[in-house]
Amino acid sequence: MLNKIEHLGIAVKNIEESAKMYETLLGKPSYKTEVVESEGVSTMFFQIGESKIELLEATNPESPIAKFIEKRGEGIHHVAYDVSDIELELARLKKEGFQLIHEVPKAGADNKRIAFLHPKSTGGVLVELCEEKK
Ligand code: ZN
Repeated sequence: MLNKIEHLGIAVKNIEESAKMYETLLGKPSYKTEVVESEGVSTMFFQIGESKIELLEATNPESPIAKFIEKRGEGIHHVAYDVSDIELELARLKKEGFQLIHEVPKAGADNKRIAFLHPKSTGGVLVELCEEKK
């Protein structure tokens, strides 16, 4: 089951500069920054009620975020849904015909196990499933 939108991932060129704008927009500071080397991203999180905003900056030119910004510019990169059992959801969605980018969940930022669905199978929106690590 998909429980709620956990966060929106937003690709930015310069996380420090974007953070200043988001601090003003949201009226509060970020609660966490984290580099995920395996993904080539530097992340920063803001909590808004029960949802979050995740800013993503590339840490190298080969990063998926660098490629995304090159093609589409800054903006919403992915929608992340909170799930209770990520293996179960991946199996269900695969059976339903969705294209999985990750067949097996991997470690993500913010204490999560994550997996992405290909935007080709989700109407052009990159979808992340995330399960809170227990
Ligand atoms: Zn995310």
